[in-house]
Amino acid sequence: MDKGVWVFIEQRDGEVQKVSLELLGKGRQLADQLETKVTALIMGDNVASKAQELIYCGADEVIIAEDPLLKIYMTEPYTKVMSELIEEKNPDIVLIGASSIGRDLAPRVSARVYTGLTADCTSLEIDEETKSLLMTRPAFGGNIMATIICPDHRPQMSTVRPGVMVEMEMDTTRKGEIVKVKPKLSNDDINIEILEIVKEKKQKVKIEEAGVLISGGRGLGKAEGFESLKLLATELGGLVSGSRAVVDAGWLDRDYQVGQTGKTVRPEVYFACGISGAIQHVAGMEESEFIIAINKNPEAPIFEVADVGVVGDVNKVIPALIEELKTL
Ligand code: FAD
Repeated sequence: MDKGVWVFIEQRDGEVQKVSLELLGKGRQLADQLETKVTALIMGDNVASKAQELIYCGADEVIIAEDPLLKIYMTEPYTKVMSELIEEKNPDIVLIGASSIGRDLAPRVSARVYTGLTADCTSLEIDEETKSLLMTRPAFGGNIMATIICPDHRPQMSTVRPGVMVEMEMDTTRKGEIVKVKPKLSNDDINIEILEIVKEKKQKVKIEEAGVLISGGRGLGKAEGFESLKLLATELGGLVSGSRAVVDAGWLDRDYQVGQTGKTVRPEVYFACGISGAIQHVAGMEESEFIIAINKNPEAPIFEVADVGVVGDVNKVIPALIEELKTL
């Protein structure tokens, strides 16, 4: 019955996406608890060279499904190949990154193999008693965290947002099995034709990769309040980010938003400056290693997750901190 934990390895232009490596790390933990194996499933054209890296990052087995029709992600062939492999090999758990590709693929695969899907999970644990997967995600507009199980159907399927799980440290001594499968695909399986691919020109800001984040909220008072946060970020070698309130107000671009509908971050140091600490914001930053909150309201919920709290006016505290840092 137990056929292990599967992780869908998302590749774009042959590059394995970070979220897939994060899920391999989590898959490894879950599989160790269940005393089973982790299988990485990679689909594409000429992707076999990635298999060894996936073993070093936690997989016991890598299934490679190569076909020229899988070169670029398209819903129909990917859904067909993945569903058929799941039906053949019966994994117990299937994990997929909640990227634009994962969000398109996962619900279709789950419907094809007639199981449930818990989307956008922020935590995955094994229930010691039943050995089933406890999948936690925000629900009711992010006002509660719901833990969901999939009792009657297999596999238990979940998508997980980028940045939530932690990659395993690469271990080049790990051994694993590489299995090549030949997908049964033809042009008849594809009802769309790609005429042109236009790559986004805008440089993507990766706040989720920053070691230090200086995050600003409505408490800054106005867009100009970010100027001192940028100075502090430069001083500390970090980036600025913000709450949804400041993004909605047009003070900051959406790429910089932290939280449930923004990005999930876990920097070494997270400054929350004039941010109240709403559950939807906290969901995106509570895994940060060290949280420093600056808020003039001592009752602000952000202080509940902070390691250091400063009660004061952010527009005075930050310039004072910059001055202090300059003397070091
Ligand atoms: P406020 O809640 O207005 O807080 C401002 C804080 O600044 C207050 O605590 C105040 O005491 C303090 N302050 C005021 N003046 C000063 C000063 N001079 N010095 C110091 N402190 C001061 N929010 C997100 O951030 N990310 C999300 O992804 C997100 N997704 C959401 C999804 C849904 C479905 C919903 C319903 C909401 C979502 N929100 C999200 C919104 C969230 O509920 C909050 O409204 C938002 O986080 C509030 O932003 P804020 O803390 O900047 O502003």
